[in-house]
Amino acid sequence: MTDSEIVIVGAGQAGYQLAGALRDAGHRGQLVLIGDEAELPYQRPPLSKAFLSGAIGAEALTFQQPVHFESKGIDLRIGTRAERLDRVGRRLILADGSDIGYDKLVLATGAANRVLPGSEGIDGVHSIRTIADARAIRERLERSRNAVVIGGGFLGLEFAAVAREWGLAVSIVEAGPRLMGRAISQPMAEAFRAHHVALGSQLFLQAKVRRLIAEAGEISAVELEDEILLPADLVVVGIGVEPHVALARDAGIDCDNGIVVDDRLATSDPSIFALGDCAVFPSRFALQPSRLESIQNAMDQARHLAAVLTGKPAAYDAVPWFWSDQGGAKLQIAGLAQGTDREVLRGDVSGMKFSVFCYRGDRLVAVESANRPADHMAARRLLTAGLSPTPEQAADPGFDLKSLFAAAQPAA
Ligand code: NAP
Repeated sequence: MTDSEIVIVGAGQAGYQLAGALRDAGHRGQLVLIGDEAELPYQRPPLSKAFLSGAIGAEALTFQQPVHFESKGIDLRIGTRAERLDRVGRRLILADGSDIGYDKLVLATGAANRVLPGSEGIDGVHSIRTIADARAIRERLERSRNAVVIGGGFLGLEFAAVAREWGLAVSIVEAGPRLMGRAISQPMAEAFRAHHVALGSQLFLQAKVRRLIAEAGEISAVELEDEILLPADLVVVGIGVEPHVALARDAGIDCDNGIVVDDRLATSDPSIFALGDCAVFPSRFALQPSRLESIQNAMDQARHLAAVLTGKPAAYDAVPWFWSDQGGAKLQIAGLAQGTDREVLRGDVSGMKFSVFCYRGDRLVAVESANRPADHMAARRLLTAGLSPTPEQAADPGFDLKSLFAAAQPAA
């Protein structure tokens, strides 16, 4: 098994991490890593934060130079697009018509940002996924005065905070009733709403874009459905993503809002695996098989799959966690707040140093923390161990969460 030929499609965080982890785990066979972007593999999280703010340059984003891949025996092929899968012949067909044989194929194809209908081809309307996207926005930030952010998710809010640092007037347009509605509870969303207002952004919740107005092909304003007109010389759209499933779906592999995998990350074809943003996987932390768009998930699944592919199969069981930096406020989330029926606040809400403990029945399922890193670290350990403080303990500022670990230790 360790001498087999493994081909990884997708050189983002998940694919890059998997290639290195496979070598570290002892895979000695051929290892090909294919990416369709022209860049060496790079980290995406700083694109909407430190790179846009100007704190770091593009060179700081690149994971490794070509010599690293050569020394590890990783055949990195950037600027290379996989077009089709021949599962019977176990061959991956590339856009230039050539093909690569595989024993095991891994799909780390990621996701693409959703496009706002009517926004195509207008100068000054951007999204953030690639380094090319972020470069174009950074250049535009230097000569813009009014930014409109469409979508109040992680991406839009991180960008909004940076645009305020650059001194732009910022309007945030969110379709749902609260910010980051897919990811966080009402109390945390409300605290971040107040935080963005304090940073100087104007917020429009439950608001819909009627049309984008351009003059000579350049964005000039965004019109909302209630006829509010927002002047704009820069629009950033962050309205969620669609997973890249075409390669799998067209080859007859099971897909359902992502590429469906089991707890070893195998698809419905046992020679083909998937991980990261594109994979729908079962988890004891989720009510149903889910897709998680996060760095933690990409990295943990990469380490897990490297073990599976080198003969150490196990069920994937990592606690999901996320973080976001928005203008001096650090949001950290451990677990998944699905089907919750009780929320308990801990800490100083008005001082933006607090956590929300989210329960399903009497079981703790997620903890969201604003500027409370110790709560976040404790929450990850609690969720891993399956331990729940009672809601009363969580709300009690004097209660030491760490005492639960000691209480759970078997007596010596
Ligand atoms: P997201 O987190 O799914 O947020 C998209 C937001 O846009 C949702 O609140 C959504 O509301 C709203 N929306 C959808 N259609 C809209 C419309 N037509 N007008 C106004 N609002 C609309 O996705 P994202 O912020 O675009 O981020 C893209 C990807 O990058 C995600 O995978 C995200 O996890 C990742 N990312 C992660 C981080 C981080 O972890 N710190 C940072 C940046 C990006 P509904 O839910 O009501 O549809």
